[in-house]
Amino acid sequence: MTHLSRLSEMKTLVLNADMQPLSWGPLSVWPWQDALVAVLQDRVQQLCAYDVEIHSASRSFRVPSVVALKRFHLRRKVSFTRYNVFLRDSFRCQYCGKHFEARELTFDHVIPRCRGGRSTWDNIVTCCTADNLRKAARSVREAGLTLLRPPLEPSPHLLDMAARRLSHRDSLHETWQDYLYWDASLEP
Ligand SMILES: [Zn+2]
Repeated sequence: MTHLSRLSEMKTLVLNADMQPLSWGPLSVWPWQDALVAVLQDRVQQLCAYDVEIHSASRSFRVPSVVALKRFHLRRKVSFTRYNVFLRDSFRCQYCGKHFEARELTFDHVIPRCRGGRSTWDNIVTCCTADNLRKAARSVREAGLTLLRPPLEPSPHLLDMAARRLSHRDSLHETWQDYLYWDASLEP
């Protein structure tokens, strides 16, 4: 029973062909079943495995814990989502500069919608509820606020770095650590 419940929770870390995670925010993980299928179809290389074996009629397989794509996957754009806006802004209200949990944050149109402001990377910022109410439908200057930095569309790399700073390494399987925190092993 313990064996089965452990198995259902197992996830596989997915790396790009350059051995970097496919994404950091959120971290690229697949259900192990999908990873095993990709290994059998020769789409990914299995780098590490859990200490658990799965048996079919004729073969047995170790459950993959880390796999890497065989073909490099190029990411050109970051999707414009609420989570990615928070991530770009490091979960800090862009007016008061304080950190908040995602559930305590909202977003603000720098140029208010009623004045033609659009929902785009360069007009949306992470904002705490208090500052969102304070600003209401006014411009930044009218509300007596200042922006920490001008909002811009982040590159995939910038967003990866932001997600990496936020990730909690304690909750990650030991076989993932070498691939996620390669530099950590160089620390004294
Ligand atoms: Zn605030």
